[in-house]
Parts: sequence; structure tokens; C-alpha cells
Amino acid sequence: MDRREKARKTVEALEKEYPVAKCTLSYEDAWQLMVSVRLAAQCTDARVDTVTAVLYEKYPSAAALAGAEYDDVFEIVRPCGLGASKTRDILASMKMLCEEYGGIVPDDIDALLRFPGVGRKSANLIVGDIYGKPAIVCDTHCIRISRLLGLTDTDDPAKAEKQLREVVEPDKGNDLCHRFVLHGRAVCIARRPQCGKCCLRAFCDHAQSLPDA
Ligand code: SF4
Repeated sequence: MDRREKARKTVEALEKEYPVAKCTLSYEDAWQLMVSVRLAAQCTDARVDTVTAVLYEKYPSAAALAGAEYDDVFEIVRPCGLGASKTRDILASMKMLCEEYGGIVPDDIDALLRFPGVGRKSANLIVGDIYGKPAIVCDTHCIRISRLLGLTDTDDPAKAEKQLREVVEPDKGNDLCHRFVLHGRAVCIARRPQCGKCCLRAFCDHAQSLPDA
């Protein structure tokens, strides 16, 4: 089976398995998603949501957060870990958003990559979730499962994104990555994938390589 066909079957199977595909972080505005994804680095989504409930109540707009005191923000976001760098990036990116973009989060990956703390994963998530543009969010689940399936042959996020863009239909990529997260938590768990109950096992390279496949 070629990789394009495998990608099509993966999309189809995961759509059936997980009918609802959406971001696992809570947000109401684009600027909030930008902040939440920065806080999510090396932190659970549940903890990020707890922290941002407080943060967004105290600072209800990008402008309000841009003008916040470093120490105040640091105290709120500290439970997410990496408090100093996350606070610095959040304040700098909200300032840049207000000063250079009138508070409107850009819909372009290259523009988003200019923001402090925004990498390709976050930029893809924002253009996909906020603007409905083609996106491949290469997080740990996406990278791991894609490689196990044989859709990619790399652990490098930028290379994996490029390889997936070559084989996944553009309008399917963003939701596919949300579903990889759900599948990575429920079935294709890191270091102990539950291949016996996986809806992808019939065409997964890793499952096919197992002795009793
Ligand atoms: S068959 Fe196994 S390795 Fe392949 S995607 Fe499913 S759980 Fe992961």
C-alpha cells in the first residue's frame, strides 16, 4: 500500500473511531490559543486549562495581558513549569500582537513564527484551528504514530510535517492531528501501544512487524 493510500485509510478509520476532533486546550479567542499553546510546553493540557481560567479572567484581552506586570503573570503561570521563559514569551508576544498586528492573530505560518515562543507546531495549530487552513500539527503523538504506521520515516518534527503534507489531503490534516492525540492517549500509547485493539493495525507497519501479526 502506498503512503497516500495509507494516509487516506488512516483518516477514514480515525474519523470513525473519534467523530469529534478538536483541540484539547480550552480557549475562546485566537490570542488565548497562542498563550495556551505556549503554556502547554512540557505541561498537561488539564493543568494549562486550570491556569488559563485564572489568567484570562484577570487579563480578558491581548492588550490587557500585554500590559500586565511580569511578576503577576509569572505567579499565575508558574504551575505550568518553565515559568520565567513562558512569562517572557507571553508578554512579548501579546505586545507584538497589539503593536504590529492590531491585536489580530495572523493567519500565516511564517508570520506566526516571528512571535516569541511560537514554533511550527503552534503556528500550524493556530492556522488550522482558528482559520481552517491546511495544517499538520507535529506533536509527540503525531510524530510517533505516523512513524509507527509507516506514513513517515523520521522523528524530526519539520521533516515529519513535510512528509505528512505530501500524503494527507490538505483539508484533513488538522483534524487528523487532533485525532492522533486522542489515539495516542487511548490506544497507541507511547512505549506500550495496544495494537490488538487498534483500528489501524491492518495497515500499520509496526503491527505488521509483530511476531503474531
Ligand atoms: S497498530 Fe499499534 S503501533 Fe500501529 S497505530 Fe495501532 S497501536 Fe499504534
